[in-house]
Amino acid sequence: MANRHHHRNNHVVRMELKKQGNIAAGLVSDRFPTVSGIVIHMTYYRKGAIPVLMVRTINIYPTSYAYFKIDCMIKSCDGGGFDLTSIVANMVKTRERLRKGTLVCHGNIDVISSEHASVEYEAVIQYKRL
Ligand SMILES: [Zn+2]
Repeated sequence: MANRHHHRNNHVVRMELKKQGNIAAGLVSDRFPTVSGIVIHMTYYRKGAIPVLMVRTINIYPTSYAYFKIDCMIKSCDGGGFDLTSIVANMVKTRERLRKGTLVCHGNIDVISSEHASVEYEAVIQYKRL
């Protein structure tokens, strides 16, 4: 899979797919058998005087779990995060290769209003040859 955006940034905080719920989701090869690979580029924005910006590329393989939820970077955020699972499922249904968009965190934080953080994503899906 081509990955031209290979700039490593030491200041990047790792955005990890949530482990919780992974097993229940099953494997990509089971849920999306036509998919040979998925690459999701994400840029994380946080509201504030200095918006903290983080970039993350997530590579998903047929052997990965079919669960694409990323935690909000704000530790006190309750019930927040960014779930790309339904986006990926919709793309696979129509064999869509590329989708870009924005997800807003609606988790609750005492001092900061909701919509305190968002991610811009670019999801690229490669399909097996028919
Ligand atoms: Zn949040």
